Amino acid sequence: MTPAIRYVRGDITEQSADAIVNAANSSLLGGSGVDGAIHRRGGPAILEECRGLRASSYGKGLPTGQAVATTAGDLDARWVIHTVGPVHSAQEDRSALLASCYRQCLRVADELGARSVAFPAVSAGVFGWPVDDAARIAVETVRTTPTAVEEVTFVLFDQRAYEAFAGRAH
Ligand code: ADP
Repeated sequence: MTPAIRYVRGDITEQSADAIVNAANSSLLGGSGVDGAIHRRGGPAILEECRGLRASSYGKGLPTGQAVATTAGDLDARWVIHTVGPVHSAQEDRSALLASCYRQCLRVADELGARSVAFPAVSAGVFGWPVDDAARIAVETVRTTPTAVEEVTFVLFDQRAYEAFAGRAH
């Protein structure tokens, strides 16, 4: 099965999906953009769990293209799935790593038993990915990844990103 896809403009921390995805960096210890918002609104429990992951499974950090879950602290969601998008490069095609983020998040969601997942536009902020291409990779990957997740919501923070993603609906 592939999930139903929705597109909304808004703040991912306000979503009530079973799992929300964090566009993290490999340190898992917080950052700007989505990452900052999730830790700010979710409270210290998420960071605590991230520190535990660094101390156990990910001593060198979470590799680009991979995903790992924590609880969601004070957020409405039950879980936060942290993934590390690639930094965009004009010299090297890193699209496979960006697609991997979406696939790995859905795999983790399946392991958790999450039925609904909310994604931000991974890599399209500080990591510099052109938003139209980020949208293409995101939507194509979710459409073609087998998963038990029933609903995926792309949560876009600004109008430009919203149009790039929602324009791919059919
Ligand atoms: P990355 O480092 O992977 O580029 P960013 O968090 O910098 O991640 O940005 C990813 C996308 O998320 C950008 O389009 C940015 O505008 C958007 N964004 C920032 N804050 C939020 C938020 N609270 N909810 C949803 N999207 C957000």
